[in-house]
Amino acid sequence: MKNPEFGTIVRIGVTLLLVAGRAVSAEDTLRPFWQVAQARKPVPGAPQYSAVTVRNLRPHPCLSAKEPDPYDTLRMIQEFHVTRLEWTYQLDPPFVAQLKTLGLTVGGALEDDSGSASKLGRVTGKDGQLVTHRWFPRDRLVGCANAPEFRRAWLEEAKRNVDAGVDLIQQDDPQMAARCDPPYCYCQYCQQAFAAYRQKHGPLADYEQFQRDSILAFHQEMHRQLDAYAGRHIPFSHNSAIRFHGKPDWTNPAFDFINGELDARNLAPTTFCQAVTAANDIPLVFCFRDTAVLDNRRFLALTYATGTWMMLPWDVFMPGNAPRYFGSAADYADLSGFVRANAGYLDGYEAAATTAVGLPQGAAALAIEAGSGQAYAWVRARPGEPDAPVVIHLLEWAQTGQPFVLRVRTAGLGNRPLVAKLRVPVAYNEPTHAKAQATRDFSSLAQESVLPLTIAGGDATAHIPALHPWGIMVLEPR
Ligand SMILES: [Zn+2]
Repeated sequence: MKNPEFGTIVRIGVTLLLVAGRAVSAEDTLRPFWQVAQARKPVPGAPQYSAVTVRNLRPHPCLSAKEPDPYDTLRMIQEFHVTRLEWTYQLDPPFVAQLKTLGLTVGGALEDDSGSASKLGRVTGKDGQLVTHRWFPRDRLVGCANAPEFRRAWLEEAKRNVDAGVDLIQQDDPQMAARCDPPYCYCQYCQQAFAAYRQKHGPLADYEQFQRDSILAFHQEMHRQLDAYAGRHIPFSHNSAIRFHGKPDWTNPAFDFINGELDARNLAPTTFCQAVTAANDIPLVFCFRDTAVLDNRRFLALTYATGTWMMLPWDVFMPGNAPRYFGSAADYADLSGFVRANAGYLDGYEAAATTAVGLPQGAAALAIEAGSGQAYAWVRARPGEPDAPVVIHLLEWAQTGQPFVLRVRTAGLGNRPLVAKLRVPVAYNEPTHAKAQATRDFSSLAQESVLPLTIAGGDATAHIPALHPWGIMVLEPR
């Protein structure tokens, strides 16, 4: 069986395996996984691996909405076992205080049109007309990075977030004028600033580069001023254009981590892993902009298997301004509950190896045979901890899962006796989830069974049953 996407991994190299977050050499396949896995530097505001995160456009029920709002943020948080509510506009102190009593990390949000109604300090085209993003209504006006009026409006809005008690803030559309239609600002402030820029960079200085430099400097300066106001570092995530380029964009140096959007076309695991590797240890959180339950479930599992995160599919902005998507607990809480149940096998674990069907056995730390032809595996280990279990995330990418065979080089496992267990999500059952949430004991949301291992010829071989779509194999030293 041949995985149609597999060619990408082969091209990346028989001697250089693609591992989520880093490239690993062939020699690494002879070393124990806990030596290959490398600890990552803590990043301010970034989630723990076991975090369950979600966003709101604004808190629900929205009392100012024209129609009665059927959604309830606090109920959703309980149903999905959420630990973080991020990228939420219009937070106020009482609501944030309620979230904090539930133990949540809370993230506010800023757009690039703060103070839009004043029309002061807005992105202006070459013809002197105001321009904005294609996806904004015409009366939402993007601020100019060089305009003092917009700087004041941004800071006012950011301070409101801090005063509401948020832990961190998401910046949407951080590219500002660079993604207006047409792009870039030609207002009086920009013309003055470009004159100074040319004195510094020479008469051939590029206007587009000047605009990007202005926007980057805007974010950095505004964050500095907000930190001074708050008396602490306010971590900032941003909606990077990673889905277009497969790598972090030029706004990245001003931010702590990425909270971006992906669409179905970005979904192939190999493409996704290349983006994770290109991000070079920058924490990656994603909204998946699609309503297909199977795709949402596969992508959610893929993110946790690769040390990234998918926000739960609830209040998700859809392409083309289609109605926002509110997924149900019946479709997804088995997976978010599974994350909580496996916190001990997620937190502290880092990438060590990966495989898909067809990787040449001799060059790989592990291999998958048979099954649907679309099964994947990612090994994660606790760096420098030989006594800790090694975990292997197993992901079925086919519509219908089929049993498959997993072979792991025993060198990676330290050539020692092991017990293997397979942990899988439990089919959704509302009372079980309610009890787990009430007691904060999520152990009932993972089902564990011992998996017989055959050791021969330097391989540990296990037969994996069909997955829906995610399982975590735990290899414990005996
Ligand atoms: Zn301007």
